[in-house]
Amino acid sequence: MTKEIKTTKEEICDYWFSRIDESNLSVDASEALERCWRCGSKRRLERCHIIPRSLGGEDIPSNYVLLCKRCHLENPNVNDPEIMWDWLKAYKEPYYDTFWINRGLEEYERIYKSKFKDDIAIFNEFITEKEAKEILGEDIGSYATHHFGQAYLNSSTIAGLMRILIKKLRTKYETD
Ligand SMILES: [Zn+2]
Repeated sequence: MTKEIKTTKEEICDYWFSRIDESNLSVDASEALERCWRCGSKRRLERCHIIPRSLGGEDIPSNYVLLCKRCHLENPNVNDPEIMWDWLKAYKEPYYDTFWINRGLEEYERIYKSKFKDDIAIFNEFITEKEAKEILGEDIGSYATHHFGQAYLNSSTIAGLMRILIKKLRTKYETD
């Protein structure tokens, strides 16, 4: 499918990063060939039409952005090019490798009507880092930033893993 595209990733990068304000995106210009322009993850990037070919979008640098496979599945397919940039900017993350964790946190809140941050805070006075490691089997920090960030876990799986931790903590520390 993508082999028919003549525009190169380098051309797309050069075109946009000489025109846009990179501070609005999850990726820096210096890494825009390696990291997804929406989620900032280090992934193989796909050339994603801004205006879909089926809606008359052309094979020219100005009609593409570079996205990972996951983000490519979610991007807006409409014939107004501003919508793509509205979408990309709305998901801007200030740090790399936090994007999918934050989507998991949003999903957690949607499902459980409470924030993971608040649910885990109840246990902060009880648990030490050592205990948390015992419960999860490894360090929470690296679990969240490394495993959640790097693996292809969807946001509901991430939310589910967070919930499992909360359930384990409740079982261990709540007596009622
Ligand atoms: Zn992405």
